[in-house]
Amino acid sequence: MILEEITMEDFKEHLKICRTIIFPFGTIEEHGSHLPLYTDTLIAWEVLKQAVQKRPVFLAPAVPYGVCTTTGRHPGTIGITPTSLRAITLDLIKDAYGKGLRNFLLVSGHGGGIHMHALKEVAETLIDELDDIRMAVLSPYDVLWKEFSALCETSNDSHAGELETSLVMALRPGLVKGISPEEYPQFPRPFIVRDKMKYWPNGVWGNPAKATTEKGQKAFTLAVERMVELIDEVEKMEKLHLWQQALERQK
Ligand SMILES: [Zn+2]
Repeated sequence: MILEEITMEDFKEHLKICRTIIFPFGTIEEHGSHLPLYTDTLIAWEVLKQAVQKRPVFLAPAVPYGVCTTTGRHPGTIGITPTSLRAITLDLIKDAYGKGLRNFLLVSGHGGGIHMHALKEVAETLIDELDDIRMAVLSPYDVLWKEFSALCETSNDSHAGELETSLVMALRPGLVKGISPEEYPQFPRPFIVRDKMKYWPNGVWGNPAKATTEKGQKAFTLAVERMVELIDEVEKMEKLHLWQQALERQK
């Protein structure tokens, strides 16, 4: 159920059997000189679009901007603050709750720490406020890190490296423009440096040359399967909650 394609009637009808909605989150962020700026949005969207073919829960349009700190000064990155991300996420979930939705999966194609933290803060606030909702906040890189690491030859693979390049090769081969050089930035932790480009000129973390379409297809399939499992888990949690309520009413 791709939200932007259905009608008001479709929404009303489908709500009778499903109260789960997924909100994808992406970024406009440099991904080396070889991947498109919307890589994070693209990967999240394609995985979720495939997952909702198997489990017809509601899929909202992706929020296309995110919080990008380490790449914030690189050309092409256009980000928002954690305050803005928290505000829009809170608004979207509250409005969806008002329309009858109760299970919220926030799935981010961007795994940045402050970005994920902002989403988790909203989830923490809402589960305290609304006692009949279920919420999950995740990025495929968190929930599949073991599987993805096993798939990659690069041991320290991250941003625009082997995995992300493989995924874009599988999903939109026409958008991969050559291959950026291998790069492993060394930031002088614990300092927070202003000029991050000095330490990370090419904006790549890992070795994109190791990417293949086949690895991308495998990673894509794994991510879709994991999303389907999560949908099943949240629906099961809701059913248990409803049964518990019914039992309490009988007492
Ligand atoms: Zn990315």
